[in-house]
Amino acid sequence: VTLTPLLQELINSLRCLPGVGYRSAQRMAFHLIERDRKGARSLSRALGNALEKVDYCTRCRNLSETPLCLYCTRPNRDESLLCIVECPADLLAIEQTTVFKGRYFVLMGRLSPLDGLGPEELGIELLITLLNQGDIKEVVIATNTTVEGEATAHYLSQLVKTRHIKASRIAHGIPLGGELEFIDSTTLGQALTARTEII
Ligand SMILES: [Zn+2]
Repeated sequence: VTLTPLLQELINSLRCLPGVGYRSAQRMAFHLIERDRKGARSLSRALGNALEKVDYCTRCRNLSETPLCLYCTRPNRDESLLCIVECPADLLAIEQTTVFKGRYFVLMGRLSPLDGLGPEELGIELLITLLNQGDIKEVVIATNTTVEGEATAHYLSQLVKTRHIKASRIAHGIPLGGELEFIDSTTLGQALTARTEII
């Protein structure tokens, strides 16, 4: 079976999506070109625009279309509280609980030496700059309760505590090995309310 070079290229490109193998990519490509060219055009436009305009917030590393994101610019947020999360989806999950009113820092990953993710990749330098500014009184570490998430939390708590800032970890309520973005708001809200200081 030979496909046209452009179709082949489309299939290969679709495989960059998580969990999409060759068969799925092929099905998607055929669907877009055969059945839904309007949808395909809108997808192409949205992807192009997002790629061009969505970047990282210069303060918290959240995804943003402006130098400072929504959460960093909102005046009603508590400057003395900083919540560290692994990814933007986790930030949204915490926002949905409406329990947390402080600001955020997004690691865009977790410490994972095997995957080449160290302090540099997680923007730790930027985090240190934030911590050194003196406004933050407490850091809530909300990395996932996976092995790597816990290791990251331990590393972060040391960074925070050496600067005489209170470090707290989100509490139980989250299943072990759980990922924040898949947890219901009530459980996550409970975990935030019952956070405990790391000693
Ligand atoms: Zn921000």
